[in-house]
Amino acid sequence: MKKDFYEILGISKNADAAEIKKAYRKSALKYHPDKNPGDKEAEENFKLAAEAYEVLSDPNKKAKYDQYGHQAFDGSGGFGGGHGGMNMDDIFSQFGDIFGGGFGGFGGGGGGPRRAKGSNLRIKVKLTLDEIANGVEKKVKVKRKVQAKGVTYKTCSTCNGQGQVMRVTNTILGRMQSASTCPTCGGSGQILDKRPSEADAQGMVVEDETVSIKIPAGVVDGMQLKVSNKGNDAPGNSVPGDLIVAIEELEHEFLKREGENIHFDLYISFPEAVLGVSKDIEAINGKVRIKLEEGIQSGKILRLKGKGIPSINGYGSGDLLVHVNVWTPKTLNKEQKQFFENALNDEHFIPSPEKSEKSFFEKVKDMFS
Ligand SMILES: [Zn+2]
Repeated sequence: MKKDFYEILGISKNADAAEIKKAYRKSALKYHPDKNPGDKEAEENFKLAAEAYEVLSDPNKKAKYDQYGHQAFDGSGGFGGGHGGMNMDDIFSQFGDIFGGGFGGFGGGGGGPRRAKGSNLRIKVKLTLDEIANGVEKKVKVKRKVQAKGVTYKTCSTCNGQGQVMRVTNTILGRMQSASTCPTCGGSGQILDKRPSEADAQGMVVEDETVSIKIPAGVVDGMQLKVSNKGNDAPGNSVPGDLIVAIEELEHEFLKREGENIHFDLYISFPEAVLGVSKDIEAINGKVRIKLEEGIQSGKILRLKGKGIPSINGYGSGDLLVHVNVWTPKTLNKEQKQFFENALNDEHFIPSPEKSEKSFFEKVKDMFS
């Protein structure tokens, strides 16, 4: 059952236009989303009030509503089936007409007078590959502008706290109103009243604050994270700006990151390649032991599944790719030299790649598929 429009605005059926407007203004102020951030019920009431006002402020619609109730608008393209016909933008633009630009939309930008927002602060955080792989909580010191102790603000008299001033011009279409940011208060609707001696012209002081930033695993160099409300304060009844955290990845001594995969160049000696060997290799979160079969070829890539960087979305991890490089000795003693000279025409030393041993190009193709 849909609630009665008069009930929503808390007025009687005999209310005149001025009373309706006043009642709407009152509930709009009370339920305004800026005053009730995240409160779904308030938003619902805010929409209901706007819908009620939309009908009751229009003499034709009001007459229909008085006679037929909500049925008057069912299926007629008006408010049939609820208040889906009005979105928040409609409501906010309606405000401008009713209250002379007394309200703005969400998120700033379009025509202000809402709680002013302080400026954003920016910092850079340098992370090691291990920190990126595991996620990390970083404590950073920031210098924030905050309202000084004992500072007070008063309503700006130029704009009556609206943050905007209306200019009325006469055109052939009639009187036109346009809004511009109040030159006295700069849009915040409030000006400094009592200024403590240490405060600046806006009543602000700079304070050191340690901010804790939770950085999820898998971030990428250049990525920006936002910590809400840890930027600068603004004067008056305002909300602080945000702290923007830019991620910088420090180069790892041995590991190379490529998206979610990590590459490691492993060098083994010629005898190790011939005889097979176990090696502790560098990996995220410490060393990993791998076993290389005897007769392993240079250029072989071993893939350690899941030993890379976790996906930032939380879907699995990349791999660690170990590139095997066989180190060819550059100098030999006499006996060694003799040994290899004897081996030159020995069948065991003649390259004979098997079909199953993929070429370098096939391996690269595999890695990216
Ligand atoms: Zn002002």
